[in-house]
Amino acid sequence: ALEVHGVHKWYGAHRVLDGIDLTVRPGEVTVILGPSGSGKSTLLRVINHLEKPEIGHVSVGGELIGVKRHGDRLKELSERTILAQRSRIGFVFQSFNLFPHLTVLDNVAAAPVATGRLTRAAAAELARELLDRVGLGDKAGAYPRQLSGGQQQRVAIARALALRPGIILFDEPTSALDPELVGEVLAVIKDLATSGTTLVIVTHEIGFAREVADRVVFIDGGRIVEEGPPGQVLDRPRHERTRDFLAKVL
Ligand code: ATP
Ligand code: MG
Repeated sequence: ALEVHGVHKWYGAHRVLDGIDLTVRPGEVTVILGPSGSGKSTLLRVINHLEKPEIGHVSVGGELIGVKRHGDRLKELSERTILAQRSRIGFVFQSFNLFPHLTVLDNVAAAPVATGRLTRAAAAELARELLDRVGLGDKAGAYPRQLSGGQQQRVAIARALALRPGIILFDEPTSALDPELVGEVLAVIKDLATSGTTLVIVTHEIGFAREVADRVVFIDGGRIVEEGPPGQVLDRPRHERTRDFLAKVL
């Protein structure tokens, strides 16, 4: 399981995460909702140690992320160890972040080769398989600029899958896309969800959340205001702030 324990995060005097506790079980799909500035991206960045929490910690399968115990304190791990941990937690961003000078195939194959996990030939074979899975088998030789936003995001998902992560974090994966391209990306994420991949997804796509989430977590002001199955949080929210938010996004 992914466990977030008592995480607090400040930027200067600004408290961005105010005591987050969250457990995501293997195979579970968790959708995180919340207003702009509520700390959703920061939480994802804390999970894979792109940001360091001032208080609290994150573990995956019982292993602390980014730190180790040192007496009763936590000590930062080496950069190398952190990178190895991070390679087991996929991250898909709003803005694709593909390598513009690499073909689609090489974008997907690059990390397994760079980390020494696969030979170039084996990585290329895996990349072809993953591109087929996201419906882009015919685009292997193209460059990112030759693709639509929806296609680029599907390449980014294939690239995340290439390291065979135990968990994939998505930060508003469709919010940079034209409306007609949203569906194709959500379909790929839904395929991952139904095949048992552990997913944590920040999105404002409420219909999608209702369909794929095992659990919906509503965050406001750096705190979890409420969480539960989608039918509860989305259709019968208990808190005023959740109701207000849903009234705005629906
Ligand atoms: P959005 O829906 O707009 O993406 P969010 O819920 O993802 O919002 P975060 O990006 O986590 O929100 O930001 C939470 C708060 O932390 C915001 O007030 C933001 O301005 C602040 N913040 C985020 N990153 C930094 C940073 N590197 N330095 C200082 N403040 C930051
Ligand atoms: Mg964000």
